[in-house]
Amino acid sequence: RLYNEMIELKGNIRVFCRCRPLNGEEIANGYTSVVDLDSCLENEIHILCSDSSRKQFKFDHVFRPEDNQDAVFVQTRPVVTSVLDGYNACIFAYGQTGTGKTYTMEGTQKDRGVNYRTLEELFRVSEERSSSVRYELLVSMLEVYNEKICDLLVDNPGQNAKKLEIKQSAEGTQEVPGLVQATVRSTTEVWELLKTGSQARSVGSTNANELSSRSHCLLRVTAISENKLNGHKTRSHLWLVDLAGSERLGRTEVQGERLKESQFINKSLSALGDVISALASKSSHIPYRNSKLTHVLQSSLGGDCKTLMFVQVSPSSADLGETLCSLNFAIRVR
Ligand code: ADP
Ligand code: MG
Repeated sequence: RLYNEMIELKGNIRVFCRCRPLNGEEIANGYTSVVDLDSCLENEIHILCSDSSRKQFKFDHVFRPEDNQDAVFVQTRPVVTSVLDGYNACIFAYGQTGTGKTYTMEGTQKDRGVNYRTLEELFRVSEERSSSVRYELLVSMLEVYNEKICDLLVDNPGQNAKKLEIKQSAEGTQEVPGLVQATVRSTTEVWELLKTGSQARSVGSTNANELSSRSHCLLRVTAISENKLNGHKTRSHLWLVDLAGSERLGRTEVQGERLKESQFINKSLSALGDVISALASKSSHIPYRNSKLTHVLQSSLGGDCKTLMFVQVSPSSADLGETLCSLNFAIRVR
């Protein structure tokens, strides 16, 4: 049986799929790859299901396990540089915990991800244009956990930090009053800032990795431009979002704090899916207000804003169910 589930490129919404390599532990445990990328087109991914059927998914691009951070950024660059032309944009990494969301967005010291490369590229392009346009770049970092917004760039993050709220400005855009905005002038400054923000995520939790998989981490880059010839000014936002893990709860975990967190995650991820699919189908009502995540991003989702979603998947047979869930989520965005 051949399923033909296709995602079309509609307007300003793009969906990329990225499959990480099978890791040493999975190989040692006898798990095999359920992903076939050899007998399909470059922008397709085929999943071999347990009943030996094959499910086929098509995206705007599919990154294979051997594709490195450079290859990913080459395809991402047009979306990020659009912020210098006055467009708002959002980039999301969606997927089960352990599939490489943080690897794609943050990366490692050695293999830097989209966040750092974005700032590097924005500095480069603004320098290139410096004879005609003056740019200022500001960075904010916040976390959405259990429908609460926390600033990750305050001096004392964690329990005492004041909660941030979303307010509508006189111009009708969604703002977060009080959110720290750090001016950045060099890539060295950026790397330090990103590290500070990431470390702040773990405050108040016993296991940093665990908490980070249950909260959304949002990096906001604000580009302010002034045209030196005609004085024309623009201010736009680029949001780089490492989403909470999309996995469903295990049977042993369906109680207490974990259940509450899980309900908040499900609510916000499905709200995000609802918003993007409403935008893709040009629906007249876009349900931004159903979660803090979509509400805070409202001014950067829809209209002529650019949206890019990375659907991250694992190749392992152990993760087959979650992989199909993630790919099917992405299909809603068609
Ligand atoms: P997530 O944020 O989705 O939970 P991570 O980004 O933490 O997942 O990735 C889990 C592990 O897999 C990390 O050790 C990461 O370095 C590794 N990894 C993820 N994607 C890749 C990739 N494309 N190539 C190599 N290693 C990867
Ligand atoms: Mg992560």
